[in-house]
Amino acid sequence: MSSKNSNEKRGSQRKKPRYTNPKTTVYEFFGPLGVSLIMPGMVFMVLLSLIECNSSHCSPFIPNRNILTEWSNDISSLFTNTLFVDRAPIYAYIGWIAWLAALYVVLPGKMASGVQLRDGNKLQYPINGLSSAIVTFVALGGIVLLYGISPLVWVADNFSGIIVATMLVSTLQALILYLASFRGGIMLALGGNSGNPAYDFFMGRELNPRIGKLFDLKYFNELRPGIILWVVANICFVAKQYSDFGYVSNSMAIVVASQIFYAMDSLINESAVLTTMDITTEGFGWMLSFGDLSWLPSIYTLQARFLSFSPVNLSSSYCLFVSVVSVGGFLIFRLSNSQKNEFRSNPNSPKVSHLKHIQTKAGSRLLISGWWGMARHINYTGDWLLGLSQCLATSFITPYTYFFSAYFLALLLHRFARDEHKCKLKYGKDWDTYCSHVPYKFIPFIY
Ligand code: NDP
Repeated sequence: MSSKNSNEKRGSQRKKPRYTNPKTTVYEFFGPLGVSLIMPGMVFMVLLSLIECNSSHCSPFIPNRNILTEWSNDISSLFTNTLFVDRAPIYAYIGWIAWLAALYVVLPGKMASGVQLRDGNKLQYPINGLSSAIVTFVALGGIVLLYGISPLVWVADNFSGIIVATMLVSTLQALILYLASFRGGIMLALGGNSGNPAYDFFMGRELNPRIGKLFDLKYFNELRPGIILWVVANICFVAKQYSDFGYVSNSMAIVVASQIFYAMDSLINESAVLTTMDITTEGFGWMLSFGDLSWLPSIYTLQARFLSFSPVNLSSSYCLFVSVVSVGGFLIFRLSNSQKNEFRSNPNSPKVSHLKHIQTKAGSRLLISGWWGMARHINYTGDWLLGLSQCLATSFITPYTYFFSAYFLALLLHRFARDEHKCKLKYGKDWDTYCSHVPYKFIPFIY
């Protein structure tokens, strides 16, 4: 029998998948045109955060500038330097990804199940993000013991090159994932299979790309290379401030403590990521690849980066005010999310069994008292307040450090609209009943 015939025979014997990959018919993000503008827009914003806010200047109000020529010169020298003059930031970033990938594989951790997929299966995920972070911090401590803080200052000094490396790696990863998603026999994301290359590249075609059975690329990218880099970069900016000014300002202490707390909280609650839209619904495309690897470490570190070259000393009363907003925001965010997780995973627990809820025809129960009775997305409100407190800690010297708050508001409003749309489709009239019980979106009695 010819090999072609035997292949055909094997192909016909292969079990048909128990799921379909329907075409995406409803566009988000204003469709192909929208994503074709969002992609260069995001790249430009990341580059702008580097070239417009650095030790030489961090203000949009500089007179007599030929801004377009300046930007194009700055951007081309950033890429030329990183690609052709000093590639150390690129090698360092590749080493960073390899280090975390190795920890993902070798560190022990309990396995958690993802949500049920369209084929009825559940994927398994190793919960070792927190231990990966701890081992990384211990290694960092060892480096400081051996060489002092100069390697940390090197990271701060070369941060622009490292971010250029994140852009190259994240875009290359998205390109490879897009091409690999045509290999057939794989589950595609319902939102990334339109047939339009730009749109599908952005949204991501494949739902759960994996290397082997366990190395889940989307899950790995979601919390590790970006979030742990956020913490490490912040520590490096503290070292930079100390090395250049001889002290660490109280504003830097507040920003970095609050962000490290938030980042560590997401790693401590790593299994909660398995029920988020990113893991359950989105394909792994440029949006998540660039967002996790590049956008997060560049935009989320803006405050600490600014303070590293421009220390701000806050009064005690202002420090107290910022700390109250920070702790208040974190508590709303954490307690509301934990209450829903507890209610969904263990409804008879004494912590949540007294809460009022409605039973939906779709099967799930929706809380209408406690945190989730106050507003439909009070968790977003807490999260946003926490982010705002980190911007406030930089005082009012530059608007750039407030960019995070503006962007995060847009992200959460958009996420809210997507989630409401999803819940309306899933719960139908039950969702209207839920909304009549919980009429406020974000702020009780106000909005
Ligand atoms: P949520 O955790 O808010 O979950 C929304 C889902 O919860 C709904 O789709 C519905 O799912 C279920 N639900 C809604 N209302 C109720 C209720 N009353 N009772 C029980 N279940 C309910 O969504 P996200 O994944 O968007 O956010 C998780 C956290 O991550 C948030 O705190 C957010 O602020 C944060 N986040 C942070 C980002 C960052 O960059 N720092 C980015 C994005 C999010 P079901 O179909 O199961 O009923």
